Amino acid sequence: MRRLLILGAGTAGTMAANVLHRRLDDDWEVTVVEPSGAHLYQPGLLFLPFGRYDTADLKRPTHSTLHQGIHRVRGEVERVVPEADTVELTDGRRLPYDELVIATGTTPRPDQTPGMLDGGEWHRSVHEFYTLPGALALREALRGFHGGRLLVHITEMPIKCPVAPLEFTFLADAFFDDLGIRDRVDITYVTPLSAAFTQPVAARELGHMLERRGIALETDFVVERVDAERKRLVSFDERELPFDLLVTVPLNMGADFVARSGLGDELHYVHVDRHTSQSPDWPNVWALGDAADLPTSKAGSVAHFSVEVFVENFLQHVAGEPMTHAFDGHANCYVESGHGKAMLIDFNYDTQPLTGTYPVPRVGPFRLLEETRVNHLGKLAFRHLYWNVLLPGRPLPLPAHMSMAGKHPEPSHETVEV
Ligand SMILES: Cc1cc2nc3c(=O)[nH]c(=O)nc-3n(C[C@H](O)[C@H](O)[C@H](O)COP(=O)(O)OP(=O)(O)OC[C@H]3O[C@@H](n4cnc5c(N)ncnc54)[C@H](O)[C@@H]3O)c2cc1C
Repeated sequence: MRRLLILGAGTAGTMAANVLHRRLDDDWEVTVVEPSGAHLYQPGLLFLPFGRYDTADLKRPTHSTLHQGIHRVRGEVERVVPEADTVELTDGRRLPYDELVIATGTTPRPDQTPGMLDGGEWHRSVHEFYTLPGALALREALRGFHGGRLLVHITEMPIKCPVAPLEFTFLADAFFDDLGIRDRVDITYVTPLSAAFTQPVAARELGHMLERRGIALETDFVVERVDAERKRLVSFDERELPFDLLVTVPLNMGADFVARSGLGDELHYVHVDRHTSQSPDWPNVWALGDAADLPTSKAGSVAHFSVEVFVENFLQHVAGEPMTHAFDGHANCYVESGHGKAMLIDFNYDTQPLTGTYPVPRVGPFRLLEETRVNHLGKLAFRHLYWNVLLPGRPLPLPAHMSMAGKHPEPSHETVEV
């Protein structure tokens, strides 16, 4: 019996387990290690603070998302020992493998910024929406917020879903507008980047959207600490931004065991080949989704497209054949912009987000870098696709590779890393 061990039952781990369990022959045993008993639909966390979803809409038992026949181990990884083809769990259990997939994602780490978690204002005036407890606490804070200075802040890139803080800002603008108190709320978007977003055309469009809504943009802000007592965000270049409500995206980091295992970079992301997801040092070790150090967005769409390419390569690899498929960094993300509209961006390693239509040229129905109602409906419909098509590993009629069909190239075609 050959053993495939998958660490993490989030988006990437669940998809990979379900597809490979179906496509590998009976020689293989597929095992998934996951500490949590519930799978969380993370894109829904954006809407929860504004009262659109509740916990029950976003959570399902982990066992219900994995096909029958896949072995489940409830536990947390302590260390990978690639020299011994073994994974050690925190409770001392050891799991041997023939092939290993690391899909343990990335986690917000407010403990890494002085004064953020430990300043006494966490979940009072200092909030985040990247975790379920954080989004629930922020919902309460928004209910009690009747005016003042709101900062929406990114600590450092990369973060998962890099557009989510912008979406939160647009939704907050619309939320206060609907409540009739927008003129009493001063909103500033605070980013370590030198523009509203990483890539030139998207940065321009998103910057205009902030401007049109009267939202201030504070760029190149590298946070040094949160002065919770004086309610100020302080940067290394000694700028101070006062707040009544701070909504931050804390530093995002891969799992600590990645560092303990000598498999990753300083933020604990696993080194992999950007086209095959295979470790350059250990040919039987792979990393998928946010856990990998791919130079594209950390997003569910990247997990989805890269898993499709990975599966084909993995099947060739275990059959002893050369791998012939290459992931191109394809990502696409809906950008919710408030009042029932959204934009869509579609890009890869070499092509920045451009205007146009997706997936069908001229027809769409989705429009790139343009706010439409249809894009918003696409974003909402995605939750059903996620549970019923993507996670079970059913094919979606969208190619894994990015297409230029329907896109309008701009004269300046430079690409910036996300
Ligand atoms: C607010 C928000 C909005 C988002 N919106 C979008 C969107 O609109 N579109 C989009 O494409 N993406 C979006 N994303 C990003 C998307 O959710 C992630 O990119 C995606 O879930 C990544 O999948 P993953 O499997 O790599 O990681 P995850 O889904 O996070 O799964 C990682 C799993 O690993 C497990 N794990 C962690 N450490 C260990 C350990 N030591 N041992 C064992 N298991 C461990 C965790 O419990 C978890 O189940 C959003 C994310 C957030 C937070």
